Amino acid sequence: MMQPESIKEVTRAPINWAATLMLSLTTLPVILVLPFYLWSNEVGGAVWIWALVFLCLNELSITAGYHRLWAHRAYKAHPALKVFYAVFGAMAVQNSILIWATAHRVHHAHVDDVDRDPYSAKRGFWFSHLGWMLRDYPAAKPDFTRSPDLLADKIVMAQHKYYLLFAMLSNFVPVLLLGALYGDIAGFVLVAGFLRLFVSHHLTFFINSLAHFWGRQPYTTTNTARDNDFLAVLTWGEGYHNYHHLFQWDYRNGIRWWQFDPTKWWIATWASVGLASDLRRVPEFKIQHARVMCQFERARAAMEKGLEKGSAHARYLELKAQMDHEWHHCTEAAARWGHLQSEKLAAAKEEIRSRWEHSEFKHRVEMKALELSMKLQHRRVGLLRRQFAQAIVPA
Ligand SMILES: [Zn+2]
Ligand SMILES: [Zn+2]
Repeated sequence: MMQPESIKEVTRAPINWAATLMLSLTTLPVILVLPFYLWSNEVGGAVWIWALVFLCLNELSITAGYHRLWAHRAYKAHPALKVFYAVFGAMAVQNSILIWATAHRVHHAHVDDVDRDPYSAKRGFWFSHLGWMLRDYPAAKPDFTRSPDLLADKIVMAQHKYYLLFAMLSNFVPVLLLGALYGDIAGFVLVAGFLRLFVSHHLTFFINSLAHFWGRQPYTTTNTARDNDFLAVLTWGEGYHNYHHLFQWDYRNGIRWWQFDPTKWWIATWASVGLASDLRRVPEFKIQHARVMCQFERARAAMEKGLEKGSAHARYLELKAQMDHEWHHCTEAAARWGHLQSEKLAAAKEEIRSRWEHSEFKHRVEMKALELSMKLQHRRVGLLRRQFAQAIVPA
């Protein structure tokens, strides 16, 4: 029997010994040594606190640095902050910024494609979590033509060139020094070294695996990415992955004030003291519009199901007319908002600035009203979806 191309490739791809060795060497002590050590030795609170501090610094360097700054250019950072990310990101041992961010751009460009997405969720949970690193799959081969900005970044290139040194020193120096200081080198090496690295790895890997399998899809159903509050807590805010895949250049992943996104707070804090700038945000109307489009998709599915099952006919037609009306309203609001937005952008040009400023208040009020109309429409279309479901009664 003929095998699909991607399955043949799985069996053919050679083992990536460097990654396999690195993952084995960092995992085996956690499984084979740590449990016995903890059973027979007292490990002080300082060891656990330092392990947690390193874990936070590593993860924030990956989420705010490798991911939102370098892979997505969601904001600009002062060189001091970039050096911090380069050092503590290397300590997380997830490859250099250049390779990590380049592969991540490919993931976004070809999300779910079994042959081109380096960690495609369509190849299964294990593959997207860890399996993709164990072999040299063609999709993971870095395509630096996607990263001219990274190739021109001196800090990125220095970290790439001396990555091994960065990774070794950033792990060994603080862990051994603190171990010597507190008189517990073995405890520090096992807990603040190996265990911290193991936890840090798998929390990041969850973003490629769990965040594509488990959760809701409020913004887009065109890919497998999910929003998941629980995962957001484990991943420094990266659990709002459905939003992120639609609006990847937003410096926020959890866009609401109540959503747990420490990476967003971290970036905003540095912006408040001048070490980060140009924080990019998707306009609220576009976010609301995306939610409404998803709601339409679900309502339409309920509508079609109603038609199949022979719903109460008059009621069905009445609801369908309401759907048509809502769709018309949505299209008109989007067109009007697009028009106002382009006027606003054009006004940024000096020659008509005065004209825009004159009418700015009126425009701002209208744009706010359009945002609100989308929020209300999201509720109305949701109600229609439920009414369609209720209208499904045997004829
Ligand atoms: Zn993803
Ligand atoms: Zn991303």
